[in-house]
Amino acid sequence: MEFRDLKSQYQVLKRDIDAAVEKVMTNANFISGREVAELESQLAEYVGVKHCVTCANGTDALQLALMAWGIGKDDAVFLPDFTFFSTAEVVPWVGATPIFVDIDKETFNLSPDALEKAVLRTQQEGKLTPRVIIAVDLFGLPAEYPELRKIADKYHMLLLEDGAQGFGGRIGEKRACSFGDISTTSFFPAKPLGCYGDGGAIFTDCDEWAALLRSFRVHGKGSGKYDNVRLGMNSRLDTLQAVVLQVKLRHFDPFELESVNQAAAWYGKYLGETIRKPVVKKGFLSSWAQYTVLLKNTEERDRMQETLKQKGIPAMVYYPKGMHEQKALERYFEEHISGQLPVTEEVCGRCLSLPMHPYLQEEEVKFVCACVNETLQY
Ligand SMILES: *Cc1c(COP(=O)(O)O)cnc(C)c1O
Repeated sequence: MEFRDLKSQYQVLKRDIDAAVEKVMTNANFISGREVAELESQLAEYVGVKHCVTCANGTDALQLALMAWGIGKDDAVFLPDFTFFSTAEVVPWVGATPIFVDIDKETFNLSPDALEKAVLRTQQEGKLTPRVIIAVDLFGLPAEYPELRKIADKYHMLLLEDGAQGFGGRIGEKRACSFGDISTTSFFPAKPLGCYGDGGAIFTDCDEWAALLRSFRVHGKGSGKYDNVRLGMNSRLDTLQAVVLQVKLRHFDPFELESVNQAAAWYGKYLGETIRKPVVKKGFLSSWAQYTVLLKNTEERDRMQETLKQKGIPAMVYYPKGMHEQKALERYFEEHISGQLPVTEEVCGRCLSLPMHPYLQEEEVKFVCACVNETLQY
């Protein structure tokens, strides 16, 4: 069994993908081909924002957003402690200070309460200026944007949506990657919308930021290619990846998005009552980057992972530790500002992600659930 079945997906889309790739090879416009701009319009329309700027990966997308806002020294950037490393990594890269905030027990997303406390503590300390909130759509579920927006407005901060795992999710009719002042996503192959290598995108309604992002992603270019008006990066999406994404986007909604939600419903039905299943609040739609359950404790979790492995079922620990426990970020963890992070620590010790992708069959989900339920009885 595959954890995320990219091989089946390719078999379904093979004809269209092969034809699109062959066309790029023939035309040899490998960088900044016409299809890249086409894809940007299609993504912006899908998400419901004015501008989409593609780039080389989801990590660069976050960094480019912070660069466009001029975030740097003496600025505080607040982010959930429970996330993939990139969310935190980009903050020191631009010279700012990351502040790790605990998550909500139910959704595993940034806790608005913990966030406001951390902002107040930072203000009181007076060393750093609170500038940005990075919210992550963890495992495909949009963060608590209505509440986060209020906090951002109240403290005059910018809201950056890290939608690397969230593409396709919704709150009501509003789609993920439209909730931030700037929002980003990743097209890493295993993400909800993945390409065949690295890729990323940035979304915003603001004309000025979009223009800055387009400049920063190509060496800070000015009016022409050899006119450089600021220090930028080399972070473009290849034409080959763009055409793969064009094909995949056509199949993403409704087919793949409906399909992962069907798989999640099967898990909900066949998993026993003693296991903590993912919570999706009313009005929210997840794009199910992961289907993550909680076991009783670390011992039970590790035993479950091992037993499933023996039966040929891959299950992963996303994530084994919070940002404040990462060696590379050690010096940024100041407990008196971040506060303690008990929910992250508990979830890290109990979480396990089960196979999840649009090509899962009901029989496969039943088999995984039967193995999980059986293991839980001992
Ligand atoms: C994957 C991921 C990223 C980084 O995306 P890359 O394309 O791998 O650079 C950033 N944030 C989160 C939450 C992610 O899951």
